[in-house]
Amino acid sequence: KPMEGRISDIGPRHFGEYLPPVIKDNFGKWAYHEIIEPGVLLHVADSGDKTYTVRAGTARLMTVTHIREICDIADKFSGGYVRFTTRNNLEFQVETEEKAKELKAFLNDQKFDGGSYKFPVGGTGAGVTNIVHTQGWVHCHTPATDASGTVKATMDVVFDDFQDMKLPAPVRISMACCLNMCGAVHCSDIAILGIHRKPPILDHEYLDNLCEIPLAVAACPTGAVRPSKVEINGETYKTVAVKEERCMFCGNCYTMCPSMPLADKEGDGIALMVGGKISNRITKPAFSKVVVPFIPNEPPRWPTMTKVIKKILDTYAADANKYERLGDWANRIGWERFFEKCDLPFSEHLIDDFRDPAYYTWRQTTQFKW
Ligand code: SF4
Ligand code: SF4
Repeated sequence: KPMEGRISDIGPRHFGEYLPPVIKDNFGKWAYHEIIEPGVLLHVADSGDKTYTVRAGTARLMTVTHIREICDIADKFSGGYVRFTTRNNLEFQVETEEKAKELKAFLNDQKFDGGSYKFPVGGTGAGVTNIVHTQGWVHCHTPATDASGTVKATMDVVFDDFQDMKLPAPVRISMACCLNMCGAVHCSDIAILGIHRKPPILDHEYLDNLCEIPLAVAACPTGAVRPSKVEINGETYKTVAVKEERCMFCGNCYTMCPSMPLADKEGDGIALMVGGKISNRITKPAFSKVVVPFIPNEPPRWPTMTKVIKKILDTYAADANKYERLGDWANRIGWERFFEKCDLPFSEHLIDDFRDPAYYTWRQTTQFKW
């Protein structure tokens, strides 16, 4: 039944219609919550009502059959209610701790034919939660790397820390397959970012028919694109020219103009960033810094990238104080030590803007500066 006063035939239905009764009854009136064991949360309302939440990871790209299976689990255990978190975890809510433990065991027992987990329970507290990621080669037009592949490979090497809560603090890992970044790589403890390193290729013969030239010009944040004319086999084509030394390989022009693709096997790859967070617990929120400027794409398992991520995570786990987020740890020991301890070379590629005045030091600013 539509919520009162709401036009329900436009857009999605009001989320309030889908809240489990305990949430509806106690909306905005929750006293506290705690994590009672990895993957299981308890929320207690002012009224004394309690709800236990069991959290499980997902594959993010799912078949309808798989989604039906999730719905069947919700029907069986949690009154038909299921929630997807912003980090693509599943959450089922039940009334008692016993039911939560039963559901946790059930979810951990669900396996694919190959024996790997379908719905591994975890992702809470001082561990790695599910990796938020973007579309990758499957869906989007500007990716410089794959999303599902890089995330699957990463998740496999950090899986123990998804199931446990033995890290000093939560570690949020994110993935965006281009720097337009519909992921959260700017503010994650560890971030995987797809980057292009070559300017767009220009399909002069098709460009005027496929694109609005003024739109392609306006799309470029650095003013590298201008209208132009090109002669090919005696024919003049209205097109664009790109000032390559100005191009920062962002792909915005390609978003506006499909005749300016910039995907390239050698040019595309991955940068790693660390030290960001959105929490204001203990220290202020922080942006991530680039610590590895480029790793080539190595599908299907991205071994170089996963080795570096594992090294950063293990070094942090061994060296940081309790409650210290990854960036706080690096700030405390000094970023020079971070690079040493994680066996990462520091190069000029990590310096954000060498044209900025020298009164910024790389200690005070978001990125490393001269
Ligand atoms: Fe597309 Fe970029 Fe988002 Fe990836 S991060 S899905 S390439 S806009
Ligand atoms: Fe401009 Fe970005 Fe296109 Fe380069 S890739 S020309 S910087 S819009």
